[in-house]
Amino acid sequence: MNPLRPAILAAAGSSRIKDVITRVPATSAVVQRFVAGETRAELVPVARALLESGRSVSVDFLGEYTTDRVQASAAVAEYFSLIDDLAEAEQSSAGVLTDIPRVEVSLKLSALGQSLGQDGPAIAAENLHKLCAKAVERHVWVTVDAEDHTTTADTLEAVRNARAEFPWLAVALQTYLRQAEDNARDLAADGTRIRLCKGAYQEPDTVAYQRRAEVDASYLRCLEVLLRNAWYPMIASHDPAMISAALALAAENHRAPGDFEFQMLYGIRDAEQRHLVGEGHSLRVYIPYGTQWYGYLMRRLAERPANLGFFLRALTER
Ligand code: FAD
Repeated sequence: MNPLRPAILAAAGSSRIKDVITRVPATSAVVQRFVAGETRAELVPVARALLESGRSVSVDFLGEYTTDRVQASAAVAEYFSLIDDLAEAEQSSAGVLTDIPRVEVSLKLSALGQSLGQDGPAIAAENLHKLCAKAVERHVWVTVDAEDHTTTADTLEAVRNARAEFPWLAVALQTYLRQAEDNARDLAADGTRIRLCKGAYQEPDTVAYQRRAEVDASYLRCLEVLLRNAWYPMIASHDPAMISAALALAAENHRAPGDFEFQMLYGIRDAEQRHLVGEGHSLRVYIPYGTQWYGYLMRRLAERPANLGFFLRALTER
């Protein structure tokens, strides 16, 4: 793990640092490397190009920890238009039609109102329901992102409830959480579609493994649970060790492409993304867009010293 990760994630919470960083124009190379524009008009051609390259997409309208109901409703309205635009992009792209939707949206319940006090979880659940109802009309999938650990229980409950009507609804699971393997078993037993990731937030030792080796070992344990039991595991990692382990377990469990997929972030390991697709595997790219890119960018910088170096160079090049 990047030794600077805790410091960067802690600094990300400072409003002074946010002021400095958000002075970087969204047009700068560093923002564009990880974020596909600030508007839907900028995002759609990026999504279409990825679909045409044989990859699937999951698009995140950036925003988190919404502070009022109007903002939460605005996020829902944006997702409605996004679902329509993505469905049209898929129809007009030259990709192969399959039963597995090639377009998906990813969302954070905190952007849909989860953190709006006592009523927050109910507001977010209602908004999630509206979005799933819209998505199903357009053959688009939805995955609920995993946020910081204080939201995990509410998020899992919201997904569990919504799955009664929308059984294809997925949730992300963070293997740095000590409870991850238990969650993986429960969710796999329920038939939930699961995105397995290591986790991107700064979490205390009481709830999360702190050492990279422990997080990786937890990832491997969860991979085994999911590839043996889950309906449609989604392996979200850029780590060659996790990808090799997933390939071996998939072969052992007679999983063909279409029974599971790899996922990577927009702007990261593009050559490996193409390589996996070339080998016949399903791969989905998580693409963020929107003006609220600060938190997302800081988590990417915290993951990897090389990302931070790239960012510092971009700052000095202004
Ligand atoms: P790391 O442990 O960061 O890196 C391991 C190895 O992978 C590196 O040593 C290197 O060999 C390789 N690698 C990693 N990055 C690069 C790079 N840029 N270039 C070349 N090689 C590289 N987190 C959440 O908390 N909630 C979510 O909902 C969530 N959703 C995600 C969705 C997707 C599709 C993906 C891919 C990630 C998501 N994450 C989410 C982020 C995730 O939790 C990790 O923080 C992030 O993916 C980094 O972990 P890693 O498994 O890729 O590998």
